[in-house]
Amino acid sequence: MSRENPPSFDASHHPRATAAKSRTKVKAPPQNIAHELETIYSSITDGVFIYDGEGRVIRMNEAARQLLHLAPDDGDYLALSAKERIAHSQLRHIDGSQMPEQEWIITRLLSGETITPQQSVDVQVTRADGSLTLISFTGAPLRDDRDAIVGAVSVGRDVTERRLREDELRRTNLQLTAATAALAQQANDLEQMNRRMDQFVGMANHEMKSPLTALSANLQLATRRLQRLTRGTGAHETEAEMQVDSARLAHEAETVLGMLARAQSAARRMTRLVNELLDVSRIQAGKLETRPEPCDLLALTQAALTERRHAHPARVIALETCCEQAPVVADPDRIGEVIDNYLSNATKYSPADTPVTVTLTAEEGGTMARLSVRDEGEGISPEAQARIWNIFERLESQSTQSADGVNLGLGLHICKTIIALHSGEVGVESAPGAGSTFWFTLPLALADESDASIRS
Ligand code: ADP
Repeated sequence: MSRENPPSFDASHHPRATAAKSRTKVKAPPQNIAHELETIYSSITDGVFIYDGEGRVIRMNEAARQLLHLAPDDGDYLALSAKERIAHSQLRHIDGSQMPEQEWIITRLLSGETITPQQSVDVQVTRADGSLTLISFTGAPLRDDRDAIVGAVSVGRDVTERRLREDELRRTNLQLTAATAALAQQANDLEQMNRRMDQFVGMANHEMKSPLTALSANLQLATRRLQRLTRGTGAHETEAEMQVDSARLAHEAETVLGMLARAQSAARRMTRLVNELLDVSRIQAGKLETRPEPCDLLALTQAALTERRHAHPARVIALETCCEQAPVVADPDRIGEVIDNYLSNATKYSPADTPVTVTLTAEEGGTMARLSVRDEGEGISPEAQARIWNIFERLESQSTQSADGVNLGLGLHICKTIIALHSGEVGVESAPGAGSTFWFTLPLALADESDASIRS
């Protein structure tokens, strides 16, 4: 081990300087200036490396030695060729990737490039003790009187700390960007929710008023008819007069019955609307309760079908199932609500002359019952399929075929919540122009472990 001591600015003091001297013409400054330069050189806190024309380090200051954790007597470092030195220091890009020879600082300096502070090159270096450090290098070639490159000088600064802080800053920035994006998303969601809420308020206004108007108008008409009727019926002189009167009575009674039926239908719509609103407010408060009990999903389906067929006598609503019963532990009213909602939507959003088909099957090895309601309506785009389960969500383009339903965009949201409370799932298969199949699953109640519960 040789030691570069005492450091002298005169390159000829170095053991290999004689060899270097023959190749390079780094001119030694006059003695007094040399001394001043020597003092500056050794007191610079950045590492200063001076290279010969071959790229060997011929001198370095104390700061350079410390930068690389070289022992004071580690003069062997000076004996290394550029290639050996770079292999020894495992010089790499700061991301740890290999640095090709043409990118080495010494290669660039000896090829005449000046690396200014603005263009400083950050590299990863393995120090003598094996620790990693990040060093930022600047430098310039050294030229002789004839402008030929005879060596180079580089200045290295430890930027590990700075880099760590920059990395931390970058990470914080990324987190901030992510948080900002999340906030923007939330703001956007809120805005959409507000828009849907506004639409909902307008819609609710209309949806509540129309059954109320129908209810009160039909009741008023029926009352007036009955009043007229009681005033109009008098004593009958003849048998013929009595027959005319009773025919008129029968006709009037039929008209009044029609009015009462319309009033009843409006009242049902109103009840359903109020129930949906109550359900939604319970869901929002996390208070939607279910009262599960052993029941038969097939029987619940048949009951819902009967009611729907009654409301739409002209409509083909078919049931396809392979089983005699489908025992589940569920709240029969709530599950009935879901089936009715699917059926109501299927009749609402498909032409009156197309069939609606309900299918009840078992799946997942007989552990789950699956109920599907298929219609031949205009279908739903994949993008809208995800949205329609959200509260207040309605599709602008959708036209309704029947006026008996409630159209507040609450039904599917309620269905999804009810089915989730029963450990089931909901979904829709649809494509524009190809109809829709809305489905839900429910766990089948197993009588014993070996029993596949849908009984056929
Ligand atoms: P609504 O009371 O408005 O029908 P829902 O929550 O039941 O509310 O349905 C949400 C929206 O999903 C509906 O407004 C409609 O646009 C769409 N939709 C539901 N069922 C069907 C269906 N069978 N075919 C086509 N679109 C449907």
